[in-house]
Amino acid sequence: MEQFTLRTPRRVAMVEITGQVQSAVTKSGVKDGLCVVCVPHTTAGVTISENADPSVCRDVEATLSKLAPHDGDYSHGEGNADAHVKSVLVGQSVTLPVSGGELAFGTWQGIFFCEFDGPRTRTVNVQVK
Ligand code: ZN
Repeated sequence: MEQFTLRTPRRVAMVEITGQVQSAVTKSGVKDGLCVVCVPHTTAGVTISENADPSVCRDVEATLSKLAPHDGDYSHGEGNADAHVKSVLVGQSVTLPVSGGELAFGTWQGIFFCEFDGPRTRTVNVQVK
């Protein structure tokens, strides 16, 4: 398994990690198979979204914050219940096909680490088979 870390810039931020994941695919030597990207955190997530227009990520962040506002009424006493909820909504892994040694994306797709309780240093696990 490959692993990398990233430093997230804000409390809530979608950070594109397509390049790091493709590097892990290349390093694995797998030409045709599957790539699983997993974030081992309960206040972060990973997803696939549009990587051409940054306003798409801003809209996703804003919509998640409406669904689970930071100052909402929660039981969890750590002050980051909204981040846990957003993490569950987004999910903590994505699986992509690998074809010819490359991640098989649509034209406008990229992989995004979703920070919900940053800024922090985070870990991403990548398994390619
Ligand atoms: Zn918590």
